[in-house]
Amino acid sequence: MNVDEDDGWSWKICGFGIFSTNSLTKHIMRSCYPDNVSCISTQKNLLVPKKVGIFVWRARRDRLPVLLELDKRGIDLHSVLCPLCDDEVETVNHALSSCKKAEIWQAMIWTSVYLIWKNRNNMIFKKSCWSPPVALCDIQVVSFDWIGKRCKRKNIDWLDWLHNPRVLVL
Ligand SMILES: [Zn+2]
Repeated sequence: MNVDEDDGWSWKICGFGIFSTNSLTKHIMRSCYPDNVSCISTQKNLLVPKKVGIFVWRARRDRLPVLLELDKRGIDLHSVLCPLCDDEVETVNHALSSCKKAEIWQAMIWTSVYLIWKNRNNMIFKKSCWSPPVALCDIQVVSFDWIGKRCKRKNIDWLDWLHNPRVLVL
């Protein structure tokens, strides 16, 4: 270095010497998951923030910080039981799909996935068109109908469902 030049920073992670969050993300992913770096790039959905894609990628590989995974990594915990239901070990699967305390939320997700599957098949076999606004409306109406008829612990009102669904999920 010439003593007459100004001091400066150089990003050594990529070849151009210029920092970018993309190069940092790739470097972290290569460091943490050297065998699976290519997986994250195949799971992209540009309609959601990158953090959501990474969350899904981690969930599919049991790499969310649920209590069982923290315990496996030697973190001293009082219990590995789910803090919501206190009934089963908190695994990724339990937290995202089988915890009974999240029953209404789970029913909404299952209904959504079912209707996406049904719409997909209608597009393929009946050549119908996919309309996201109509699909979202269907999910809202069908979820209300199915959950309202089957939920024994709460009386679900249509206006609450439309305007304040948070109260019903808690
Ligand atoms: Zn639970």
